[in-house]
Amino acid sequence: MQDRVDELIKILNEASRNYYELDMPTITDQEYDDLYHELEQLEKKHPELIRDDSPTKRVGGKVIDEFVKVTHEVPMMSLADVFSEQEVRDFDERVRKIVANPVYVCELKIDGLSVSLLYREGKLVRGATRGNGVVGENITHNVETIKSIPLSIDIQEEIEVRGEIYMPKRSFIKLNEERQKKNEPLFANPRNAAAGSVRQLDSRIAAKRNLSTFIYHLPTPENFNIKFHHDALSMMCNLGFTVNPNIKVCNNIEEVIDYIVEWTNKRSDLPYEIDGIVIKVDDLNEQQRLGYTARTPKWAVAYKFPAEEVLTKLTNIEFCVGRTGKITPRADLNPVHLAGSVIRSVTLHNEDYIKEKEIMINDTIAIHKAGDVIPEVVRVIKERRTGEEVPFKMIETCPICGTKLVRKENEAAYYCLNTMCDARKIEGLIHYASRDTMNIDGFGESIIEDFYNMGYLKRIPDFYKLYQYKEELKELEGFGEKSINNLLSSIEQSKENSLEQLLFALGIRHMGKKVAKIVASHYGSIDNIINASLEDIASIPTIGDIIAKSIREYFDNEENMEIINNLKELGINMKYLKEEVVSDESFENKTFVLTGTLEVLTRNEATDMIESRGGKVTSSVTKKTDVVVVGKDPGSKYDKAKELGITIWSEDELKNNLRIE
Ligand code: NAD
Repeated sequence: MQDRVDELIKILNEASRNYYELDMPTITDQEYDDLYHELEQLEKKHPELIRDDSPTKRVGGKVIDEFVKVTHEVPMMSLADVFSEQEVRDFDERVRKIVANPVYVCELKIDGLSVSLLYREGKLVRGATRGNGVVGENITHNVETIKSIPLSIDIQEEIEVRGEIYMPKRSFIKLNEERQKKNEPLFANPRNAAAGSVRQLDSRIAAKRNLSTFIYHLPTPENFNIKFHHDALSMMCNLGFTVNPNIKVCNNIEEVIDYIVEWTNKRSDLPYEIDGIVIKVDDLNEQQRLGYTARTPKWAVAYKFPAEEVLTKLTNIEFCVGRTGKITPRADLNPVHLAGSVIRSVTLHNEDYIKEKEIMINDTIAIHKAGDVIPEVVRVIKERRTGEEVPFKMIETCPICGTKLVRKENEAAYYCLNTMCDARKIEGLIHYASRDTMNIDGFGESIIEDFYNMGYLKRIPDFYKLYQYKEELKELEGFGEKSINNLLSSIEQSKENSLEQLLFALGIRHMGKKVAKIVASHYGSIDNIINASLEDIASIPTIGDIIAKSIREYFDNEENMEIINNLKELGINMKYLKEEVVSDESFENKTFVLTGTLEVLTRNEATDMIESRGGKVTSSVTKKTDVVVVGKDPGSKYDKAKELGITIWSEDELKNNLRIE
């Protein structure tokens, strides 16, 4: 334990040095925050292991000797970080133990570096960095070059204000472009670029860097008879300081959460970087009652946005065989937290993708969530290569059946063309039973794989023969009378499904959910499809030649027809069952848009249920939209809906209106 604490302190202090003193971070903020959190937890559990030089005991970095030192009369503190809505609520609970009905001020957390500005007799006399919180560096010569900082103000008493110096996104991009041209090292982010600029001895450099400021703190409000933080902000604004306009006084924690959600969605529209939201108790008397820890005030907290991109190590590349025989390389990763879930693997799509991104085994890679759902590789961090990386090599034979793989013309993917390949067959069976197809409840992927390997389930019709082995199956580990009965009754129920579910379930190439519905409703029965000519199928609107050809190929194949005939004999419905539209005025003829993650229903389920009640689901919010259903972490559609005054339902409201539990 002591070893790990020592190791964490060493890594974190080293990282802080690179970050604060050299302005060249060697690890990402996410990595720093994760390690910091680990150290905090260890210290909480084992207070005897706390060391004086632990980063949990100190603010920021060291002061560089080249600068004249400045002592802060009121220390410049850091802020305690929180990373989830629950932790924000916990902060509120802690505050409430001391203060009855706290009012909060929410502010954007500007990603720059803090600055202290001192004025005497209306003149700017000193600008200083935070340094270690008590001693900072005198950077007056550079601060004077920043246009948004007034050199004189209309007040005679001595006054200190604090805020953030930052570099706007556009200036950062321009600066790095110029540095690249000159072969100079690039800044990792606008924060480091801003810090690197103000900590220059030559003020001509800072003057060229187009820095700006937001002022957010008055350390001695008592001198100006100020009682509330929001009044301090107004006063500083009236004195000519730039105060961020997006500040909100919130009367309760729900309003704070709304503010966080709003700015989580809107942050990318800002011309400067923010890395979170700062929540402060507004009443300055209450702030004093709440007090301070060694490092942070207890009356404020910084909610940090979840990292949009994280780094992790790619430990291996495996190959998966899909139901069409397509081989997909998949990367195994050291597990990392990303936007609310733990990621252990990520698809690498195909050989070309891996080559294009120059991915090697043992590389450190950056991943993010595409469309906020599916994790995706952004790039390889080549600077972290150690020489232990192993180049990727595409396999030549199927990892399951050993058949030589084939790369189809105009496609990047390789295929195993052996229709008897176990992997393909298992994937085909999994697809048949899955929710969107025949929806046979209780058939997880591993049960199908086990039943396949034990010989109970080799082809699709075998699902409907499983009842013959009921006595044997109920003896299997993890099963019993009840679960087998449930399984068999779901299998029985699936016989009644409408034709489009069966068409999608059979695994016909290019036959997705939508196409299946179009074809099923057009022909009404499977026999009509079997008898339809290629031209006839291709003439259905939105179907086209490729899909028509693939449907024809499927039904022209003898083995496939044997499956269809078996299924017919086993009593599986082969007709399109017109959906009964349950008329319901909350849905009928109304247009819905779904946004964010629904927690109970899947998007498909919600869509099906809305449609079956006569509603329509579309993807973009317009004036014609009637209702927007908002799940967790909604996107810009939520903002648009609010802007247009459209009715907004939560998932619970949707479920109530659908009359489901
Ligand atoms: P912090 O960034 O977590 O929060 C405190 C700071 O927020 C304040 O000092 C102030 O400068 C700033 N701030 C911005 N807007 C504000 C507002 N409206 N009101 C009040 N303050 C506002 O704390 P920190 O001590 O500056 O930095 C710690 C963080 O720095 C870590 O959590 C980590 O993400 C990062 N870090 C990274 C590395 C690395 O190697 N990548 C190393 C050290 C620190």
